[in-house]
Amino acid sequence: MAKRTINDIPVLPLRGRVMFPDNSASFDVGRLESLAAVKRASDGDAYILLIAQRDADKETVDSLDELYPAGTVCRLRQITRLPGATVRITVEGLFRAVMVRGDKSEGAYSADVAEIVSANPNSDLSEAYFRTGKDIMGEICRTENRIPKEAASNLEACTDPEEFVNIAAYNLKLPVEKKQEILESDKLVERLKLLDKALNDEIEVIRLERKINAIVRQNIDKNQKEFYLREQLRAIHSELGDDEEEKTELENKIRSRGMPEEVLQKALKELSRMDKMQTSSPDYNVLRMYLDWLIDIPWTEKTEDTEKLSDAVKILNDDHYGLEKIKERITEYLAVLKLTGGMNAPILCLVGPPGVGKTSVASSVARALGRKFVRMSLGGVKDESEIRGHRKTYVGALPGRIIAAMKNAGTVNPVFLLDEIDKISSDMRGDPASALLEVLDPAQNSTFRDRYLEVPYDLSKVLFITTANSLDTIPRPLLDRMEVIELNGYTQDEKREIAKRYLVEKHKKSNGVESGSLKITDGAIDEVIEGYTMEAGVRNLERNIDAICRKAAVKLASGKASKLRVTQGNVCKYLGARRYERDAGMQADEIGAATGLAWTAVGGTTLTIEVSAMHGKGDILLTGKLGDVMKESARAAISYIRSNSEAYGIDESAFETTDIHIHVPEGATPKDGPSAGITMACAILSAFTKKPVKSSVAMTGEITLRGKVLPIGGLKEKALAAYRVGVKDVIIPADNKKDLEEIPENVRGKLNFIPVSDVDTVFRNAIVGM
Ligand code: ADP
Repeated sequence: MAKRTINDIPVLPLRGRVMFPDNSASFDVGRLESLAAVKRASDGDAYILLIAQRDADKETVDSLDELYPAGTVCRLRQITRLPGATVRITVEGLFRAVMVRGDKSEGAYSADVAEIVSANPNSDLSEAYFRTGKDIMGEICRTENRIPKEAASNLEACTDPEEFVNIAAYNLKLPVEKKQEILESDKLVERLKLLDKALNDEIEVIRLERKINAIVRQNIDKNQKEFYLREQLRAIHSELGDDEEEKTELENKIRSRGMPEEVLQKALKELSRMDKMQTSSPDYNVLRMYLDWLIDIPWTEKTEDTEKLSDAVKILNDDHYGLEKIKERITEYLAVLKLTGGMNAPILCLVGPPGVGKTSVASSVARALGRKFVRMSLGGVKDESEIRGHRKTYVGALPGRIIAAMKNAGTVNPVFLLDEIDKISSDMRGDPASALLEVLDPAQNSTFRDRYLEVPYDLSKVLFITTANSLDTIPRPLLDRMEVIELNGYTQDEKREIAKRYLVEKHKKSNGVESGSLKITDGAIDEVIEGYTMEAGVRNLERNIDAICRKAAVKLASGKASKLRVTQGNVCKYLGARRYERDAGMQADEIGAATGLAWTAVGGTTLTIEVSAMHGKGDILLTGKLGDVMKESARAAISYIRSNSEAYGIDESAFETTDIHIHVPEGATPKDGPSAGITMACAILSAFTKKPVKSSVAMTGEITLRGKVLPIGGLKEKALAAYRVGVKDVIIPADNKKDLEEIPENVRGKLNFIPVSDVDTVFRNAIVGM
């Protein structure tokens, strides 16, 4: 067949699509050059060349080089004007053609073109490609509804391989380059081969999609199936009367628990409500869970208290070193408990710094009585519902932690430890403290109401013990209900004994170290206490001993040694470098600096108070995160010295021309309380008189405006702190003399206590040359 040629045919650039012969297409035209080309075609013989742009994103075509070299000559069948400047055209593809020459005239591109005719149109190979191509295309058409029905039936009926390639390539979803390749090739076999490859790729994708769909469908079907089967099962159960059986079983359980009558009636009522519900309904499950709770919490189960009090005392002694006074108080308490049968027994509150054995004393009490032990930490409890639970109408509601703990205890009379009662706080979600009051009040706690349970629960047989680090933040009404027992910090000797007798063996055991193969000397324990811990209790000491045992276990297990000895010298091999150097206190007598003694939640500590008096306007500056009470006692100290300035040899007018700066390091730790009053007074007087404060003296006491010294709290802790830093003289308020006996013998012997009742005596003892 002779090649067809056409000269000066208008060119319509296509974006993102390739036109093929044997197809019709409709699309909108809006670009100026394209509109001009359409106009020229419709004005002329209706032939128009459609060629794809190489870059589909390009808005304008600046030269014919931006188009592929070959396209399809089409006949313009129809033009419809659309609103705006666009037209919709319908074209029919006639033959493939390559541009021989082109230019731009009347605003449109035009070209001379020559037909592309395929070589050797009929061969066995092309016949084979044609047949497989048709098969695959058939499959694609059946599964893909993207391909128009008309094109699908044309393909089905097609007998001409060339026509088949054109229709198939036009309708397939392929990248423009691929389509263009198929369009341009001048060998039929080549064209069929390219098409076949594309078809195979496409069918692979389709098969994969089908597979994924099938998996998804399978999952959905499975859920549906399960649901269906369950419903059927239920129907069968109900036909056979099994539902009845389940209900009877539940009812028997409820009746056998010994619930009080009111609770029993409530449970039975809820059971009959549940019985009328679909098992799949959410309400059914809510009720089921509710009934399970009622069945699970203890109503009558009870342990019998140990008969002999002496056994109880032995257990307390076995578990703890020292703590004589506490053991005595607890023994008394247990005796009273036994005599009264627990009626109106006060609630114990163990107060002291962390790690002094509060929790472990409480658990010993449980052991001594033969009762179950449960523990609930109140640290950070803000929300009343944590204690009382949520109504069961709430989604995901549960009983509060009191009832949950009772379920864990499994008896109605456990020892129940409420830890950190000083750490509860309240916000707008109710007041947890008032809920706790109800728990702890013997007049109310026999009918404790948990919101979830809705029925009263009797807590009156529970032995509550609470713990706190400090009494200051415990709400007053709560504190009034409790009997406070103070546990103080330990001395170095006590700590060493506790470690030797309890902690070392305990951790050897827990780390699987045989007792004989590891020896920790007294010197090593002292080194741990001094160099690795800074605490009133023994918690970090215990942690470090655990670390030593763990490291030793590794060494022993690796077979490097069969016996280990930890001494003062080699502790650092186990624990790394020392963490604390011995706090030396003040090294030399200094002007404007005095050593105070403070009590913190973690035990006693020393506190250096610095004062600097400088030329100014009489301003007072207080830094180091001081609380209001501390600031006020600083002002009281200044006022006292100022009003007695003559007696101390200070010119009264100096106060008007001097700024006083009082600072208490470490600046970031908040400090408060009145007990630094006399220390501040000393430092201030020293700064004004330029006479140094003795470095061997430490002091504590509140000051009044008239110079009286008032008593303070926490003397034992403070004395231990003074002893730790090696102070010799400790100035204390005269009214605290009675507390001296609390201080361990060996510490008391090493310190010289100076009881004072006025600040003048303080100055005479503490300031050089006073
Ligand atoms: P707290 O509750 O006061 O913070 P813990 O009861 O948790 O302290 O005590 C910390 C650890 O120290 C526990 O392992 C405890 O057995 C131990 N411990 C504290 N005091 C003594 C003591 N006097 N005798 C023996 N072990 C003690």
